[in-house]
Amino acid sequence: MTTWPASKRHAAKVVRALKRDYPDATCALEFDDPLQLLIATILSAQCTDKRVNLVTRDLFRRYPTAAHFVRVRPTTLENAIRSTGFFRNKAKAIKQCCEKLVELYDGEVPQDMEKLVKLPGIGRKTANVVLGTAFGIPTGVVVDTHVTRISRRLGMTPQKDPVKIERELMQQVPKREWIDFSHRMIYHGRQICVARKPACEQCSMAKLCPKIGVDMPSPV
Ligand code: SF4
Repeated sequence: MTTWPASKRHAAKVVRALKRDYPDATCALEFDDPLQLLIATILSAQCTDKRVNLVTRDLFRRYPTAAHFVRVRPTTLENAIRSTGFFRNKAKAIKQCCEKLVELYDGEVPQDMEKLVKLPGIGRKTANVVLGTAFGIPTGVVVDTHVTRISRRLGMTPQKDPVKIERELMQQVPKREWIDFSHRMIYHGRQICVARKPACEQCSMAKLCPKIGVDMPSPV
């Protein structure tokens, strides 16, 4: 039977190993201000950060403020972000989000979880990315597909729902580590604990990891 070693002690070992392996891990999306990170995060859904960075270099030069995104024609914006995939939905999300930012907050991104998740298309994951990375405010743990997969394999949670996973990780990982922990888990998911065939033989956590579900098809 599967056992779940979820505990603060186990989490502390994971945090330590990740810190040692990825001391400088940070967000791979390029941005100069919170609005740019918000938009880059919307664009990063189902797309690589590398592709997003290629697109946003020109995009942010052409549309430097939320008001610029409100004014741009939907088809023009769709064409500018087409290569990131799901471009119609993403263009709509960016425009609706920027409309609310201009209407409610003078075009500024609020430094507040409750206000952020009320913006169209912004969930806890995006809000955590923006608050943690752009403002340095630890409001939670970013739970994307990498964090979901690795935290389950490591036995830190049996959950599949990102909100429940985040709640459990927040209980185990000290608040001061939340921002870096998310970045490091994502790095680890890209380099070692990949979805299809994790490189457990190269992983520094091999001894402390129960490798839950590793022999079976990945849940995400
Ligand atoms: S030991 Fe394997 S399953 Fe566990 S974290 Fe490392 S790569 Fe992932």
